[in-house]
Amino acid sequence: MKRCLLALLICFVFFQAKAQLTPFELSKDKNYTATYPEIISWYQKLGKQYGQVKIFNYGITDIGKPLTLIVLSKDKVFDPALIKKQNKRVLLINNGIHPGEPEGIDASMMLVRDLLKKNKLPKNVVLCFIAVYNIDGCLNRGVSRINQNGPRAYGFRGNYKNLDLNRDFIKADSKNALAFMQILNTWQPEVFLDNHTSDGADYQYVMTLIETQKDKQNPILAEYTSKTLSPELYKRMAKSGYEMTPYVEEKNATPDSGIVSFLETPRFATGYTAQHNIISYITEAHMLKPFDKRVYATYDFMQNLIDVCQRDEKLIGEVKSKADVQVKNQNTFALNWELDEGKYDTITFKGYTAAYKPSEVSGLSRLYYDRSKPYTKTIKYFDNYKATITADKPMAYVIPQAWQKVIALFQLNKVVMHQLAHDTTLELQMYYIGDYKTATRPYGGHYLHSNTKLNPIEMKVKFYAGDYVVYTNQALNRYIVETLEPQGVDSFFAWNFFDSVLGQKEYFSAYVFEDAAAELLKKDPDLRKKLDDEKAKNPQLASSAAAQLNFVYRNSPYFEKTYLRYPVGRLLTQTKLDLK
Ligand SMILES: [Zn+2]
Repeated sequence: MKRCLLALLICFVFFQAKAQLTPFELSKDKNYTATYPEIISWYQKLGKQYGQVKIFNYGITDIGKPLTLIVLSKDKVFDPALIKKQNKRVLLINNGIHPGEPEGIDASMMLVRDLLKKNKLPKNVVLCFIAVYNIDGCLNRGVSRINQNGPRAYGFRGNYKNLDLNRDFIKADSKNALAFMQILNTWQPEVFLDNHTSDGADYQYVMTLIETQKDKQNPILAEYTSKTLSPELYKRMAKSGYEMTPYVEEKNATPDSGIVSFLETPRFATGYTAQHNIISYITEAHMLKPFDKRVYATYDFMQNLIDVCQRDEKLIGEVKSKADVQVKNQNTFALNWELDEGKYDTITFKGYTAAYKPSEVSGLSRLYYDRSKPYTKTIKYFDNYKATITADKPMAYVIPQAWQKVIALFQLNKVVMHQLAHDTTLELQMYYIGDYKTATRPYGGHYLHSNTKLNPIEMKVKFYAGDYVVYTNQALNRYIVETLEPQGVDSFFAWNFFDSVLGQKEYFSAYVFEDAAAELLKKDPDLRKKLDDEKAKNPQLASSAAAQLNFVYRNSPYFEKTYLRYPVGRLLTQTKLDLK
C-alpha cells in the first residue's frame, strides 16, 4: 500500500515537472518554437500554480486577440500605481515582434517558470513579459526566413495588415501598437528589452546587442548605460558562455571594414521607448547559430539584465528621475541624426575570414565566410551620430481638435493636455510647409515625407473651444517635440498625418479673375512691384499669362491661408489662456 502511494506521488511529481516544461524543452531536437495556442495555454497553466504571477490582457490586436502580458511580482503587488509608490523598478520585455525571430518567446517561458519555481524573483524589480507581440504573424506559421538556422517552423514578420510592427510605433497603424502603448504607459518601465534575431554577416558570436544609440539617448541615461549597465552586461554574458558583440551592421561589405552602431529612430520600439526616457536594449541572436543556443543565450541575457537591474535598482530610479527633469527643462531637441564618419572607436571582433569564389548560380564572384578560418581582430566601430536638424521647443503647442489621431495618441501616451474653454484668437507662430520630398513607393503603408523645409510666420489664428494646448514642461517633451515638429525623421507630418493641408481647396477661373487681378494690381502698388520683380528674375513667369495670374491670386487676400499651413500652432510667449 505504502509502495503504491509512493509510486503515485512520484508519478504526480513527474507529471507536474513535465507539465512545466515548455514546448521547446519537450521537443527532442530543441529546434522547435511554441505556437500561439501553446504559449497562451502554457502560461495560463503556470499562472494557476503560482501566486507571484498574474496574466493581463491588453486591448485587441489586428487579428482580434488581446495582447497578453505576464507580470511577475515577488510580493504579489500587481497594481502599477502601488508599485510606483513602493519605488520599485519595472522591466518590460517584448517578444515576437518579428515572430520569425522567436528566441525570446521560448526563453521567456523558461525564465518565467524558473524564477517562480526557484523562488528567485528580484525583490525590487517587477518583471513584465509580452508573451508574443505580433500574434497575427505568429499564427501565420511557415519557413519565411530562408537564411535562418531553425527552428523548424515559425511565424511571419508581417502582421494581419502585413505591417512590420517594428516600424509602427509613431504612426500606430496597428491595434497591436495601441495595446503596446497602453502597456508601456500603464506600467511605466524604467528598462525595456526587445528580443530579435539578426541577419547579415557570419561571425563567431551567438548573441549581439543593440543599445539605444548613445548620441540619441538622453545624456544622463547614456552616461549610465554606456559606462555601467552595458559593460556589465557584456562582462556577465562572457562569463555565462555567450560573449557578445555590438550588433553587426557592416560599414562596407564585411565586418572587417568596421561596423556601424544602429540608429533606431522613433518608429522602432526602442526608438519610441527612448522618447519616454526608458533605458532600452535589443538582443539580436545570430541567425546562423543553432536555435537552442540562441534561445539559451537570450535566456542568459534576460537573467543578467534582471540581476543588474536588481543590483542597480536605486541608481536606475535616480537616473530615470534626473533624465525626466532634464527633459522637462530641455529647450533644443534633435529631430534627425547622421553617422559621423570621421569618428570611430575600435573593438575586438571575433569573425570568420571573408573570401570570394565563383557562384554556382551565376558563375560570378560571390562572398562567403570561411568558418575554418576564425580570427580575432581589432576593427573600427562607428558609433557616433550627429544631429542634422534641431528645433527649439515653443512654450506650448496648440492642436486643433480636428486632428483626432494625434490627440488620441497623446492621450494614450499620457501627455498632459488642456483644452481651450472658449473660441479664442491667439497670436502665435505657424509653419508654412515650404518644400518637402515624398517617397515614390510606400513604406509601412505610407508615402513618407522627408527634407521638409519650413517658413515660420507669426500670425493670429482662431482656435475653438475644446482645442488642445500642450505645454512643453513635460518628461515626455521628446515624444511631444519629435512627433509635432514636421522636420522630425519620424514626425507625424513625415508619416502623412497632416497631408490634407498639402492640397489647395479653392482655385480661380482665369477669364473671370483677369479683371479682378488687374484691379488688384492697380490698387496695390506693392503687389505690382512684387510681380514685376519676380518676372525679372523668372523668365518662365514672364512668358506665362497663367503663371502671372496665379502669382497675383496667391498674393491676394482671396488666397486660402490654410494652404500648406501646418495646423499645429507654436505659442512662443507666456500667454494667459482660459482653459477648461
Ligand atoms: Zn527583428
